[in-house]
Amino acid sequence: MNHYQAPVDDLLFVLQQVLDAPAQWQALPAYAQVDAGLMAQVLQEAAKFVDEVVAPLSRTGDEVGAQWHQGAVTMPPGFKEAYQAFWQAGWPSLSAAPEDGGQGLPAVLAQVLYEMLSAANHGWTMAPGLLHGAYECIKHHASDALQSQYLRKVASGEWLATMCLTEPHAGSDLGLVRTKAVAQPDGSFALSGTKIFISGGEHDLTDNIVHLVLARLPDAPAGPKGLSLFLVPKFYPDGSRSEVHCERIEEKMGLHASPTCVMRFDQAVSWLVGEPGKGLAAMFVMMNAARLHVALQGVGLLDAAWQKAHAYAHERRQMRAPVRQAGTEPADLIAQHPAVRRMLDTQRAWVDGARVLAYTTALELDRIQHAQGPAKEAAQRWCALVTPVMKAVCTHQAFHGGSDCLQVLGGHGYVREWGVEQIVRDARVAMIYEGTNEIQAIDLLVRKVLPDGGMALGALLDGLLHDLPQAAGARVEQLRALTHSVLKAAAQDATLPYRVADDYLRALGLVLLDWAWWRIRRALHNPSPEQAQRWLAPAQALDQWVLPEFEMRCAIITQQCARPASVSV
Ligand SMILES: Cc1cc2nc3c(=O)[nH]c(=O)nc-3n(C[C@H](O)[C@H](O)[C@H](O)COP(=O)(O)OP(=O)(O)OC[C@H]3O[C@@H](n4cnc5c(N)ncnc54)[C@H](O)[C@@H]3O)c2cc1C
Repeated sequence: MNHYQAPVDDLLFVLQQVLDAPAQWQALPAYAQVDAGLMAQVLQEAAKFVDEVVAPLSRTGDEVGAQWHQGAVTMPPGFKEAYQAFWQAGWPSLSAAPEDGGQGLPAVLAQVLYEMLSAANHGWTMAPGLLHGAYECIKHHASDALQSQYLRKVASGEWLATMCLTEPHAGSDLGLVRTKAVAQPDGSFALSGTKIFISGGEHDLTDNIVHLVLARLPDAPAGPKGLSLFLVPKFYPDGSRSEVHCERIEEKMGLHASPTCVMRFDQAVSWLVGEPGKGLAAMFVMMNAARLHVALQGVGLLDAAWQKAHAYAHERRQMRAPVRQAGTEPADLIAQHPAVRRMLDTQRAWVDGARVLAYTTALELDRIQHAQGPAKEAAQRWCALVTPVMKAVCTHQAFHGGSDCLQVLGGHGYVREWGVEQIVRDARVAMIYEGTNEIQAIDLLVRKVLPDGGMALGALLDGLLHDLPQAAGARVEQLRALTHSVLKAAAQDATLPYRVADDYLRALGLVLLDWAWWRIRRALHNPSPEQAQRWLAPAQALDQWVLPEFEMRCAIITQQCARPASVSV
């Protein structure tokens, strides 16, 4: 019931009015031809595909799920047809290079497309979700011979791809990977081992599947530096089948339509991608884009849950609200109750602000690829610091905020009919994959903020201050001071950063969200009555219900900084 509707007006408002994306593209020769008209046309067509083809399959995907039988996986009804229509219409190659058969459009448009797709049908979208990363990886690291066989097929999406990293004993710590690759006289490698949790490891959506696999050469050192990357397809160019087997698929809490596979590699003939020992580096080419992609899953799923909760709250009547909101709605609609409005407006504040931040980050990713000099350096700094924050806060909010949206429906949210419970179940995994949210927090504080004494973070905060009205700069300065306290305390107590990393990430996330909302306010400097009605309530919810968390996070960090080192051991 009540499929997700891609919110094209909102998406275009953020790209055009808040971020002035077309003007940003004009400054990059690669995208100088992309204007507001083209952007609107692409996103309107994408929304049509999402609403008409992908969204209606979400419920069946959850109920029927992917089915494993004797090593083969059958996807839920309608999935194959929808995927074939998707790649044949050119959607996977939106931002691939024209020389590889792509359309050469800014990557931010592809990220927006995937936000809509994930919101409409997270399970289906898992299949093409890794495609662009695989394309970038093959393009930047594979030999000419491999590229000639695989690059265009992966760029177009005619063949789907996997990322085979995780093993039963090696999750967050990929340095423990044991899968082995042994060199063969013909230049190929025999790959042996077991990978688990591989999304789309086997399915019937496409004729072939291209696996990118992290493995270890016999003489490789232990740890992450000993890992190399290999490519092995399901079918080789001569049509023969590889020794890659799907042993089973996992039963899981949600995302039933996405087969999460146990994959066995039995001396499978494969080829090295990039240099020996540089496997992780080859995969990290696409890490920021992949994490942002997961952040946008969070934004989309929360928006989808909000849409359902908002619709329900404007139908359901229970008691008269104590103080009626202005307008003509009946006083006994649950949308009139302050407790319900609080839940709805708070999640709206998160969706709108997080969307601004995610699209800003996507624009910066495009700048990393195509700008030079200080603009490129600033873009690199933004993406390094902000991407882990986005991945963690957006996926956290999709699950916890999605649960609040479920609450708006009362018991009707807990039963299947409205589909909010599916969103909550599906969203949960995004806090785990693509680096758990705890790993994101450590990446931010321990690897990116502390090593240069807070310099890069300081430059980022300066940039935010430049954009904010003077009165709104206090939190930025508070975070700067807090960073110095953490630096000082960490010198005495090496475990401190690991204890406060989550709080620190949340604090920076809230500062960024505040900044994003100032950008929205600036775009609405003279709002029409419709705009005021749309944007005022979430803007107020941000101040009343979201930003106060910043003080709490600061208090926790300050308290930990003051704790004697001996107590923490
Ligand atoms: C549905 C689904 C799809 C997936 N798809 C893929 C895929 O396509 N390809 C692929 O390779 N993998 C995939 N994964 C695997 C996923 O990336 C891992 O589950 C994830 O990286 C965490 O690894 P783990 O499950 O072994 O947990 P662990 O690493 O064992 O972590 C357990 C807990 O300990 C915490 N922890 C671990 N190390 C640290 C640390 N250093 N500091 C602080 N906390 C820590 C974690 O945050 C977590 O809370 C998928 C997983 C799922 C569930």
